[in-house]
Amino acid sequence: MSKKFRVFATCDIGESLDLLRRRGYEIEVYPRPEAPPKQLILEKVQSGIDGLITTLRDSIDAEVFEAGKGKLKVVAQIAVGFDNINRADANRYKVPFTHTADVLTEATAEFAFFMMGSLARRMWTAEHLTRDNQWGYWHPYLPFLGDEVTGKTVAVIGTGRIGLAFIKKCIGFDMNVLCYDPAYQNHSFVKSVQEIQDLRHAHGLAKEESWTKYVEFEEALRKADFVSVHVPLLREGESPTPTYHLFNEATLRLMKSTAYLVNTSRGPVVSEAALARALRENWIAGAALDVYEKEPLPPDSPLRDPVIADRCRLMPHFASAARITRLSTDPEKGMAGRCVQGLVDVLEGNYGGHIEKMPYVVNKEAFGG
Ligand code: NAD
Repeated sequence: MSKKFRVFATCDIGESLDLLRRRGYEIEVYPRPEAPPKQLILEKVQSGIDGLITTLRDSIDAEVFEAGKGKLKVVAQIAVGFDNINRADANRYKVPFTHTADVLTEATAEFAFFMMGSLARRMWTAEHLTRDNQWGYWHPYLPFLGDEVTGKTVAVIGTGRIGLAFIKKCIGFDMNVLCYDPAYQNHSFVKSVQEIQDLRHAHGLAKEESWTKYVEFEEALRKADFVSVHVPLLREGESPTPTYHLFNEATLRLMKSTAYLVNTSRGPVVSEAALARALRENWIAGAALDVYEKEPLPPDSPLRDPVIADRCRLMPHFASAARITRLSTDPEKGMAGRCVQGLVDVLEGNYGGHIEKMPYVVNKEAFGG
């Protein structure tokens, strides 16, 4: 490699950075665990770095692209969601940005599934009972009961990569699945899933017959015992079917009072004020959240209300936080490996330099893709 590329990473992504160092790259890593100030990112970009490694905590917009005009060649995001990167601005400045889809799909889907089970079976409250020495007896229904997951009906909102992987987990628990997605409906996947559900029943592995089908949003919400959300954050103007506050007072009121909401997508997809009210006033039975309108979750968030603590699980944006998924240097397994590969593809002109052919580039449309 003739040119020595300079890269600034807004956080440490582990050994994958050594792959770049071994290729002769000059790497600078922001050393602290929290996000760097925007001003620092602007300074680094202004100083002429070729590549910027970002996380979902960094706001990447026209200001950044302007600072790097003519110098910044790629933004490599370690996440599948890229709502922190202004796509229109990236396209205007013709800067490709990459993401790490697929390698976190199964980890995120299983975490959503575990959150659903732990919420419904009240595992957090039950463990507190034990730890706080409040477990005084075995009793048929005291001090409380949870709800089963097996055999129930789950609505999957967004049937992209993670939504479909989540469905695979659900059918192992003989759940019925209501799918909703206005933009992408994978009917052949649903057909395969239905065949497996039928086989499980035919072979006596499942007592009841179960089913999977696409329905409209309202029907999904009205009929589901669980609702799991797997959409990208799309604000007004970014999509004909935006997802910002998709869950609000009106839509939460459509859900059964016995139903549970699980959100591992992006915080602003759910109005937290509406959700806190729905939980306080028992419009729904409970919610498990991994993502928030503002992260980290502020100390005065209404979701922290002790009155709803028992029915509201709060995770620290943790769904992809598994060892191999986050840090493997193998681009087929780890977000870090895939992030670095996306960066290398652009900087070293892989795929004959055709950005629109590079698999991890998101905004291919700006390059004729
Ligand atoms: P994807 O693009 O494969 O799937 C998203 C699906 O949502 C698409 O099929 C799309 O058509 C659908 N969709 C768009 N608008 C919709 C709407 N209004 N209603 C219903 N569906 C709609 O993305 P993915 O890889 O499955 O990831 C989904 C999102 O999950 C990411 O964008 C990211 O924000 C989030 N995520 C969170 C974590 C975490 O740690 N909590 C980890 C990974 C991904």
